[in-house]
Amino acid sequence: MTVLYKANAARGAVWAKLFAERAPGMAFRVWPDVGDPAAIRYLAAWQPPERIMETFPNLELVFSVGAGVDQFDFSLLPPALPVIRMLEPGIAESMAEYVTLAVLGLHRDLVPFIDQQKRQVWQEIQVRSAASRRVGIMGLGQLGQAALDKLRAFGFPLSGWNRSPRAIDGVACYTGETELDAFLGQVDILVCLLPLTEATRGILNARLFSALPAGAALVNCGRGGHLVEADLLAALASGQLSAAVLDVTELEPLPQGHGFWTHPKILLTPHIASMTRPETAVDFVLDTITRHQAGQPMPGLVDRASGY
Ligand code: NDP
Repeated sequence: MTVLYKANAARGAVWAKLFAERAPGMAFRVWPDVGDPAAIRYLAAWQPPERIMETFPNLELVFSVGAGVDQFDFSLLPPALPVIRMLEPGIAESMAEYVTLAVLGLHRDLVPFIDQQKRQVWQEIQVRSAASRRVGIMGLGQLGQAALDKLRAFGFPLSGWNRSPRAIDGVACYTGETELDAFLGQVDILVCLLPLTEATRGILNARLFSALPAGAALVNCGRGGHLVEADLLAALASGQLSAAVLDVTELEPLPQGHGFWTHPKILLTPHIASMTRPETAVDFVLDTITRHQAGQPMPGLVDRASGY
């Protein structure tokens, strides 16, 4: 019984070391060194290889090495093959840090101050209270809730929007399409932590921006496909949005010469808001394999119908 890893090779080497320590009885291989394809039962991949069942006829489970699965083409995977997304605690911890950094940065005008520094301008901006800055999160899953837990300490009025109803202490929760505009109308800093699906592609668009209070700010740490980039540039130009912190873009790496690189109202990071940590990810994978073998429910099992 072999586990095959197919993603960043350097991280694969760290996984291999951890597997050797924590599951010495289990064979572990890093792509493209697959050994006997018939022995591969478990695959941990960022993108699975093509013709997966023909190549690995005894495959039982596929893990995404990231929290999202939008990079998977489900039409190439047999419907009965379970896909598990990475639910290791390191991802949530790092994402909560990033969202806190971005929200505090926007709250304390870091984006205009970075621009002022570049232009050698020394100019105050009146400090506002956290109580007057309303923060709203789209997507109240494991990451959205982890971020809200950290933000609570600062005193921002908090709200969230989600497909199915949520009840979270100290957070005004809005549900579904019908409550989207009511949610947006009371958000000064909007954070996107949705999965990328047919329903959410392009959701951060001109219409959504127009439903926010004038001068609101955006944090996108979902996926680049959530954002209509031209609509963001127009909203920043008109002042409908005051600033944006973007961790993800439609094309990654962002192409040279793209307008986001030098935009004075955009703070850009290279998809690093959160990364799977091998130390905790390996434990999650081993626990899931044990559950699979025992026929127990597996946390992180992707619902093919909803796409996340
Ligand atoms: P979860 O599946 O735990 O949460 C997703 C949440 O979004 C759920 O609560 C779900 O609602 C809600 N949702 C899904 N579709 C809709 C919709 N159409 N309208 C409203 N709400 C919706 O995912 P995670 O929290 O683990 O991750 C969220 C996303 O964060 C990932 O899919 C990925 O895109 C992104 N990510 C980005 C990283 C980065 O470094 N930038 C790193 C890791 C993840 P419901 O309760 O009804 O299912």
